Amino acid sequence: MSHLGLERLTRRFPGTATPAVDGISLDLPQGALLALLGPSGCGKTTTLRMIAGLEAPDGGRILVAGRDVTALPPHRRNMGVVFQSYALFPHLTAARNVAFGLEMRGVPRAERGPRVARALELVGLEALAQRKPRQLSGGQQQRVALARALAPQPDLLLLDEPLSALDAKLREEVRDEIRAVQQRLGTTTVFVTHDQTEALAMADLVAVMNQGRIEQLATPEEVFERPATRFVATFVGRAAILGAEVVGEGMLRAGGATLLAAETPRPGKAEIFIRPHHIRPLAGDVMAENVLPGRVLRRVYTGDIITLDCETAAGNLLAEVAGGSPGAALQPGQEVRLGFAAADLRVFPA
Ligand code: ADP
Ligand code: MG
Repeated sequence: MSHLGLERLTRRFPGTATPAVDGISLDLPQGALLALLGPSGCGKTTTLRMIAGLEAPDGGRILVAGRDVTALPPHRRNMGVVFQSYALFPHLTAARNVAFGLEMRGVPRAERGPRVARALELVGLEALAQRKPRQLSGGQQQRVALARALAPQPDLLLLDEPLSALDAKLREEVRDEIRAVQQRLGTTTVFVTHDQTEALAMADLVAVMNQGRIEQLATPEEVFERPATRFVATFVGRAAILGAEVVGEGMLRAGGATLLAAETPRPGKAEIFIRPHHIRPLAGDVMAENVLPGRVLRRVYTGDIITLDCETAAGNLLAEVAGGSPGAALQPGQEVRLGFAAADLRVFPA
């Protein structure tokens, strides 16, 4: 059953030409984590703030478990929110910071202690309960903020770029921890990020946003393997782009070769997207559904993966090959036949 529903949610700021959030709709099942993924300025924070009740929409509805909450003030929505900056009270201990959210909701004093302890234990900070924020690392502070958001047992957990103030290694650690805690509690969650790796690693569903709209709403695998639009294909992961022409259903011409694709738009100018890991340098006379002749321009060795930048008549292709595989020995200047499957091609109208 849908736990969070957005119906044509819209926000237009006065004096701006285009809406910051332009009629977005989605349904999120109970217990799922949705990543709102997109570049800076695409409307992620505005969407999250409208769900939280911190920003009023100009149109559309927000439903939680079937109940229309669009007109409710934030404190009546039972949502836990964590922002990019930790926003902890500097003069309060970790425990008092977590207790604050419970106080605000009128949880009786006697109940607060055990619930604070449980929330801090959930994020592995029970031993540091009496520390003030400045005595905690960035990662620990963000865990306190998470405990504070979770302690009231919210219907919905809302996280706005909660990892962006952390350094790379810590970011991964806290990321995996947030996901583990979220899954253990089964709290339906919306996680805002501009980082595709973060989105793919954490989410059950990814909504890729661009200019106030959702371009694709799908599982991480689906978004990565079958991007719905050119924007999604280039924003999420690396993709080679070739110029082509659709000449019939499932058939293209590119760089003098005829290629097959599982799906094609109407005949006419088109662009082909292929992920580097789907392209295989073919040895000898090995056949593939699609073959483009090319030449290796550059070879980048990164241990387990070797990236070959290849020139073809249709444009440049990146091929990723595993160390030790036949293609791994190819060197710049060498001729190569590049093979790929029809199912791994995405074709968009140009
Ligand atoms: P994101 O979180 O994806 O970076 P935001 O939701 O913060 O994007 O912003 C979306 C768009 O709305 C941007 O163009 C931004 O400049 C604009 N915007 C955000 N808040 C306001 C505001 N209070 N007043 C006017 N414009 C705003
Ligand atoms: Mg933002």
